[in-house]
Amino acid sequence: MDVRVRYAPSPTGLQHIGGIRTALFNYFFAKSSGGKFILRVEDTDRERYSDESLEDLYSTLDWLGIKWDEGPVVGGPYGPYIQSERFDIYKEYAEKLVKEGKAYYCYCTPERLEKLREEQVKSKSEYQGYDRHCANLTDEERAELEKQGIKPVIRLKVPTTGKTTFHDVIMGDITRKNKDISPDPILLKSDGFPTYHLANVIDDHLMGITHIMRAQEWIPSGPLHVLLYEAFGWEVPTYCHLPMVMGKDGQKLSKRHGSTAVREFRDKGYLPEAIINYVTLVGWSLDGSTEFLSKEELEHCFKMENIHKNPGKFDYKKLDWFNSQYIRMASDDRIASLLTPYLVKAGFISDPPTKEEEEKVRLLVAPAKERMKVLSDIVELSKFLFKDEPVSDKDVYIAKGSDLVKTKDALVEGGKILFDGLRENKAEEKIEEELMSLAERLEVKVNGVFQPIRVALTNSQVSLPLFDSIRLLGIPESERRLERAINLFKEN
Ligand code: GLU
Ligand code: ZN
Repeated sequence: MDVRVRYAPSPTGLQHIGGIRTALFNYFFAKSSGGKFILRVEDTDRERYSDESLEDLYSTLDWLGIKWDEGPVVGGPYGPYIQSERFDIYKEYAEKLVKEGKAYYCYCTPERLEKLREEQVKSKSEYQGYDRHCANLTDEERAELEKQGIKPVIRLKVPTTGKTTFHDVIMGDITRKNKDISPDPILLKSDGFPTYHLANVIDDHLMGITHIMRAQEWIPSGPLHVLLYEAFGWEVPTYCHLPMVMGKDGQKLSKRHGSTAVREFRDKGYLPEAIINYVTLVGWSLDGSTEFLSKEELEHCFKMENIHKNPGKFDYKKLDWFNSQYIRMASDDRIASLLTPYLVKAGFISDPPTKEEEEKVRLLVAPAKERMKVLSDIVELSKFLFKDEPVSDKDVYIAKGSDLVKTKDALVEGGKILFDGLRENKAEEKIEEELMSLAERLEVKVNGVFQPIRVALTNSQVSLPLFDSIRLLGIPESERRLERAINLFKEN
């Protein structure tokens, strides 16, 4: 059997980490089994639809390098792949079910349904929901209602007895009593729009989808979908509901935990390969231990059997770690060009950068690569190079366990060791050793010497490695800043 899977998002918001995880699992499963990955846009909910989210869907997949074999833009033999362009198809199939007696027209007004609901609540009726009022209308009654101009919906006849089961590759058999399936759900609305269930089932069938990999929150819809396949006389595809994506606290991942939109991660400076690698490991693993997997490797080694049953935890710290590793592995050229927009936006360099600025960025890359979790960290890390905003609060210079006098001594004596050493071309390790002995002499921890010097030169406690900072600033400018800090400590 040729595998055909689909990612079928509804463009109602920015692409979420959980959604992209579904896309990646489908994509990797398709690739690793020599099948096709299809993109289908489920935009039947026109109220929640937005152009921006459709745009975001395309640009996010594009950024991740996920190409679909069939779908919008690229087309394919089962198109169109945008549901709003397929309304005639849904109507035709819904009417076919009516003709076969498996579905029926319902003319109930919203007012009648609301009253029905109120009564059911008031009488604490065991039976909740639509009362199948229109299931047995005579032809005359129907004709009368039509004459009044009432536009009907189409409802599926759900059996009132028995149960419906579907098999899920991960979750096993899932069974629901038919009487618990929403009584006679609407398939086609009165304005001719299909509901999610109708459009989803028809498209999966017509597009030849073999495996349905989607979020576990769709499990409750499974039995109804199976009833629909049966009503149409179609073969039920293989189901594989994916484990939930949770935050650290075991709750469904949401804004409370942090960013959830891929766009936000991208803006902060996560690399696509880090997102792909880490997100694929949420609820899936190759062998329980392999961490680094490239997209190309995943395209070969992804197996459906390795999807976990239990929810996956999305750990922001772990993603940061992956990202910092991928930043280190990336070429300097690539990182330089990725950093440039952040520096332009911060107002540090011009747009486009001058030759001189480009050179500065280039020099910045190697030391910065070691210190960034995300690309946007470059702004804080490199600010000292572009904007000189000296720290006037002495406490910032004073390391834990040190004091005012020792900090001043560290600046004066440390500065001498540093710049004399550099002028004499001493090895950096040698200079470092001397600075450490100074710390011993002053009876402070190493940071008691390094922190004040770092703050003096880079105006910050977190920065690039010391010698890299001096190289970037140049010795004269570095000395000037150190002198300035010493003067601050001389004042009272
Ligand atoms: N349009 C649905 C969603 O946005 C698709 C569910 C499915 O994959 O069947 O999640
Ligand atoms: Zn009705």
